[in-house]
Amino acid sequence: MSDTIPLCVPSVGIEEADLVKQCIDDNYVSSVGRFVSQFEQDFASFVGAERAIATSSGTAAMHVAMIVAGVEPGDLVAVSDFTFVASANAAAYVGADLLLVDSEEQSWNIDGELLYDDVRARADAGRRLPTAVEVVHVLGQPARLEPFLALRDEFGVRLIEDAAESLGATYTVGPAAGRQVGTSGAVAGFSFNGNKVMTTGAGGMLVTDDHDLADRAKHLTTQARLPGPEYFHDEIGFNYRMSNITAALGLAQLRKLPAFLANKRHIARRYDELLDPEIFERPPQAAWSSPSHWLYTVRVERSMRDPLIDALAAADIQARAVWPPLREQAPYRASETLGSGVGAQIHATAVSLPSSVELVDEQIERVASVANRAMRRAVAS
Ligand SMILES: *Cc1c(COP(=O)(O)O)cnc(C)c1O
Repeated sequence: MSDTIPLCVPSVGIEEADLVKQCIDDNYVSSVGRFVSQFEQDFASFVGAERAIATSSGTAAMHVAMIVAGVEPGDLVAVSDFTFVASANAAAYVGADLLLVDSEEQSWNIDGELLYDDVRARADAGRRLPTAVEVVHVLGQPARLEPFLALRDEFGVRLIEDAAESLGATYTVGPAAGRQVGTSGAVAGFSFNGNKVMTTGAGGMLVTDDHDLADRAKHLTTQARLPGPEYFHDEIGFNYRMSNITAALGLAQLRKLPAFLANKRHIARRYDELLDPEIFERPPQAAWSSPSHWLYTVRVERSMRDPLIDALAAADIQARAVWPPLREQAPYRASETLGSGVGAQIHATAVSLPSSVELVDEQIERVASVANRAMRRAVAS
């Protein structure tokens, strides 16, 4: 008899309950209350940004990020092809056309050189340039920044970061050395969905160093209501704000985040040590970063991906394939694309292994031994 090992579940306890109880005791459970602004301030200082605006989801943060970064209907936005669909939806909500850019092997993130060369060719030919690039830092791995900084400086392409999966990952060398992901562009979004490194149940955060963008983002997330006693609104806003009760959860989680991140890195190290190197290709370890290892994801032979997931499932261990690239998703099949299918190859060969922050050594060892045994058997047959 063994217990199920889930893919990635939150760790919520007494500290969260205490803060949520304070909201209930004070009767500040909705949009008024001190926890939202405290959570915003503490989050901004954790990631090293000037300002943070709490939102109802990561998707909402990315939608507002597009607007405040100045993306308008009919604009072209370059987006990572290999990502969760919410990244692309944010650009589609504002009426932008998407340019889906393939991944590079070193980090599985958007291939900046590929985009740079395309933008240069567009500029030379007098064709439309992207207004912005939405760089998604997937699976806890920071994308290489240099090409995007060059695109910004040489062609005015604004940099928007989707850091939903990579809270706490840092750059170790290069132009952002010592900085966290989500602090190098005009604006960035994070997610506190239940499977992310820290959670508020549902929620998100927009961060920026630009006070005007931050003020506009706050305004848009609160129905664009003007100050004063009456209900006047100067544009079409959204009900995207975070509730006080949600922010209370977030504050308690943020205090635990360093411990969560330490455990994610420990989990990755143990898997690295235990998984058979003849069979499992380790997650990317880009030279420029210290990843957060949000979801520890290996690659195997194409024919082994589903048998591995099935063998783990038979042992009550949840593992999962990664997303197909956006160019294969129904709403984005007609989008322009760059690159010939690194993302599709990752999709065909990658498997995410259990990575919950409370995972203990014994569970990691069980996952690794079931995975090693199943794959050795498959290789031998
Ligand atoms: C989770 C996620 C989002 C969206 O966050 P929600 O809080 O679920 O709306 C956006 N982009 C990426 C890459 C994600 O993984």
